[in-house]
Amino acid sequence: MNPPIQRAAENYDTEWSEYRRVRNTGLLIWLGGVPLIGTLQLAWGKLFHNGYLFSVFGSAWFLVCIFYGLRYQLWRCPRCNEIYAGKFWYHLGPFARHCVHCGLPKP
Ligand SMILES: [Zn+2]
Repeated sequence: MNPPIQRAAENYDTEWSEYRRVRNTGLLIWLGGVPLIGTLQLAWGKLFHNGYLFSVFGSAWFLVCIFYGLRYQLWRCPRCNEIYAGKFWYHLGPFARHCVHCGLPKP
């Protein structure tokens, strides 16, 4: 009788730490951008009476939000290296509790 195969313990702490960093940074930028840019624009508008600052910072903020959103939504599973939350025909986004390919749970 063969002994059971000992699998190496799965340790993806580094990958999950990076996942949380991307998620939290994206959320902070998304939620913090509106009051920050609004306040800056208010001060800029009082001083210079134009909206150029908002168009520059607002566009940059929008692009950074898209960048972090895509990084988060297209996060690769540390075990199977497939997109964690979706397949080609559906995507669970932040509601995925397990990898849709291999079943690896979120910590
Ligand atoms: Zn997986």
